[in-house]
Amino acid sequence: MTSFNESLLRNRAYVGGEWVPAISGATFDVRNPATNELVGTVPHMAPEDVEHAIAQAQRAFGEWSARSANERAEPLKAWAQLIVLHAADLAAILTREQGKPLADAKNEVLFAASFVEWFAQEARRTYGDVIPATRRDTSFTTVKEPIGVAAGITPWNLPCAMVTRKAAPALAAGCTMVLKPAEHTPLSALALCALAERAGIPPGVLNVVTAERSAAEAIGRTLSTSASVGKLSFTGSTAVGKLLLAQCAGTMKRVSLELGGNSPFIVFADADLDIAVSSALFAKFRNAGQTCIAPNRFLVEDSVHDAFVERMLAAMHTLKAGDGMDPDVTLGPVISEDAVKKIERHIANALDRGATLVAGGKRVHREGYFFEPTLLTGITADMAMSCEETFGPVMGLATFSSERELIERANATRMGLASYLFTRDASRVHRVSHALQAGIVGVNTGMIATEVAPFGGYKESGIGREGAREGIDEFMETKFICQAFAA
Ligand code: ADP
Repeated sequence: MTSFNESLLRNRAYVGGEWVPAISGATFDVRNPATNELVGTVPHMAPEDVEHAIAQAQRAFGEWSARSANERAEPLKAWAQLIVLHAADLAAILTREQGKPLADAKNEVLFAASFVEWFAQEARRTYGDVIPATRRDTSFTTVKEPIGVAAGITPWNLPCAMVTRKAAPALAAGCTMVLKPAEHTPLSALALCALAERAGIPPGVLNVVTAERSAAEAIGRTLSTSASVGKLSFTGSTAVGKLLLAQCAGTMKRVSLELGGNSPFIVFADADLDIAVSSALFAKFRNAGQTCIAPNRFLVEDSVHDAFVERMLAAMHTLKAGDGMDPDVTLGPVISEDAVKKIERHIANALDRGATLVAGGKRVHREGYFFEPTLLTGITADMAMSCEETFGPVMGLATFSSERELIERANATRMGLASYLFTRDASRVHRVSHALQAGIVGVNTGMIATEVAPFGGYKESGIGREGAREGIDEFMETKFICQAFAA
């Protein structure tokens, strides 16, 4: 097992530049989903702690937002560098609280740093416009201004990258932030705060409050109804996203929501099957299938179905399941017992309705929440796994016979986050990628997330975009200044 430096492992929350317990003194434990071992203990905070954090963020806003973009960029760049420098230590914390293999955790940490680096630069390009005026002796200009205090609520599947994907654009724009990480993975968020502090990000600019699931609803309500918070950015389930959106209406908060997906993975007969298979292995089994952009519905053209299944099985045999701290492991556990139960329910439902189990299908009986890499064929649109995200290492395959039928089926969902398309036909790439109702289309690749391109969904997969120049706009208002002057 790999050794690591424990100095970033914190047992307090970070509010107003201080490492604090909950006002109540309550704490909760964070356990490793691979071994059930205790990784750390952190404050179990309540709305009163959140109110305090909002007040600290409000106090810090004046000085931070008055800085030039360059001045804000300096500590942000230092933060990005420290994240890279401590990538191994952050990865070890991440793997132990979340389960993903160490190499994947390290990649996530570098991905997290990339947002900080990108937005530190992008702050300098938040241009306004000089608009040709429609009246004489008048100037029309627009400027971009930070919204104010921003709230962030993040999920457990990417415990570092989801924090910086929100905090970096918020801070770069001149906002301050109160962020609540998921209850399964608060330690990565706190470790990032330890580095933000070292990087010179001033007290109160970034605040992280931690709490167990039992307080998530009350904390969400506090953040989404506070008149002192101008913006809420949430990543998580569609059900919670809808609740938060409704709660934000009362104060007309700006809202970004990055919610669930139900991504189609489409393989046409003319595709390079090796590329399709290696992309499926990456996109589906990375993080044990627990990403919102994980393919959830595999649609394979009839004539290559059997060849695709055969090659996919061979690829799945290369996966090695186990504790992510073991450097040979490539498939970690899922996050919890509930996650295992959901996978079991989806598989049972598919088998009841006539699907065929080709590989896997069972939980692994050992310590931790492990599930066998699973492949099912004969999946139909009425099965649970076609309608909801499975969020596990399970592939369900269906076939199609024409492009028109394929597009209808791919779009027959209220979700619209990612989609994947494999074909060698350039005209088809054009037609299908434009017809897919999704915020992201991967063509002949499973790697579609990058800090420089917009990430977000159509339909019930969310509102707004993260990353890219769109990502910083989400934390800014546009002000029009209409100025008449004496001739
Ligand atoms: P998951 O089911 O994958 O945990 P959730 O949407 O439930 O997805 O969780 C994502 C984040 O939202 C976590 O930080 C969680 O604590 C938080 N959360 C859960 N329920 C609520 C709620 N009612 N209001 C605000 N935040 C919530």
